[in-house]
Amino acid sequence: MFSFTTIKDYHAALQVNQLSCAQVVDFYLSQIEKNSSLHSFLEVFREEAKQRALELDTSRAQGIPMGKLHGVVVGIKDVLCYKDHKVSAASKILENYTAVYSASAIEKLLSEGAIIIGRQNCDEFAMGSSNENSAFGPVKNGLDPDKVPGGSSGGSAVGVQMDMCMVSLGSDTGGSVRQPADFCGVVGLKPSYGRISRYGLIAYASSFDQIGIFSKSVEDAAIVLETIAGQDEMDSTVSNLPVPTYSQLTIGTPKKVAYFKETISHPDLDPEMKTQFIAYIKELEQNGYTVEAIDFSLLSYVVPTYYVLTTAEASSNLSRYDGVKFGHRTQQSISDLTELYKLSRTEGFGEEVQRRILLGTFVLSAGYFDAYFTKAQQVRKQLVNFTEDFFSKYDILISPTVPSTAFNLGENHQTPTQMFLADIYTVYANLVGIPAISIPLFKHSNGMPFGLQVMSASFHEEALFAFSATQMNKNHSA
Ligand code: GLN
Repeated sequence: MFSFTTIKDYHAALQVNQLSCAQVVDFYLSQIEKNSSLHSFLEVFREEAKQRALELDTSRAQGIPMGKLHGVVVGIKDVLCYKDHKVSAASKILENYTAVYSASAIEKLLSEGAIIIGRQNCDEFAMGSSNENSAFGPVKNGLDPDKVPGGSSGGSAVGVQMDMCMVSLGSDTGGSVRQPADFCGVVGLKPSYGRISRYGLIAYASSFDQIGIFSKSVEDAAIVLETIAGQDEMDSTVSNLPVPTYSQLTIGTPKKVAYFKETISHPDLDPEMKTQFIAYIKELEQNGYTVEAIDFSLLSYVVPTYYVLTTAEASSNLSRYDGVKFGHRTQQSISDLTELYKLSRTEGFGEEVQRRILLGTFVLSAGYFDAYFTKAQQVRKQLVNFTEDFFSKYDILISPTVPSTAFNLGENHQTPTQMFLADIYTVYANLVGIPAISIPLFKHSNGMPFGLQVMSASFHEEALFAFSATQMNKNHSA
């Protein structure tokens, strides 16, 4: 039976004809079938994936050089446009909508030989931390189906976790790749803001959104990033900095590490996770790293700042779904245009999305704009200044990725703000635009995995990869 380790090993096996892409696609399709109760996929591109695998096998047999992602089986979150395929943002409002063009990241995947196997379930419009906000039903964690996989890219995390694809693309606005990666025991990367084009990514909060990558190894995340990153005339916020060959891990492991005192003294951090994190710091020091504890008095502001700014941006971005230009249109009889908008949007959007549109509209309203939106922008600016100063002194910032391990389905429903706390360690990287990765280093005595979050300066993904690869490899050989 096929067992996936890394893209590099897979390519080596293809090259000596030990395997074919067609066999591998069959393996993944059977895994998807076997795990269908987890509800990771909203749609599987079965016949198309098989066809593409055959084409790739033929091209290899003809001696045509393999692309970087030749035969790599990829799942995509249901917020990425793939021409002539449905994309719904897991929302009733876009149910049965078909993409009219492909996201730039998708184009790049395909041009390097990837096989897209299906679109993966997520929280509606990427809003959530548990994947329970999908209009099409929740995703379950493959390690324990009573537990959530995290969100919003839960389907993409479970896809990699349960070998239903080799890698997957999610989106990360405040932790939606790293948090589910942490809950599922896989690698989850959010690159620097502007590293990957957002063209064709359904917007939640445009100054925060980034496409992210799930994988089993740091090296694979690096290969995918170097394939999909870089300049794009379709997105004016994408950087034109050259894209390094991240997968070659050319730089040495950075040694100057720091963490924020407030992250480990936070009352919501699970005590056992705290103990393991402190033991890990000691281990780093024994291995020749310097690890300093830094004051970060702004920690308690990051979640409120994130929710003021992202809901404001969401209320504007989601105004296009009005039943006229885009989205579901009510079938009820209406007396005027306002009623058409009102009914269409009420029927089409789920509760959490409605809550955020209302909150965002409120913080942008004339009487409250300065008190909320302007204030939050000021905090964001202070965070950016603090971060620039921080990375002039240190290479790497570490923290737990999430304060707890995966919780039970239905457990965090009492108040929405309780759920927001799952994002306390992840939203900072999106507020300031730095890259961040969650790597599955730890295991809790409750049986669930949890991750280490590693962050570096903006556009210094090389540092983050070098550090993380060393940590993962050390862990595996231990
Ligand atoms: N959980 C966060 C939220 O609900 C993050 C979502 C995301 O990164 N897309 O907004």
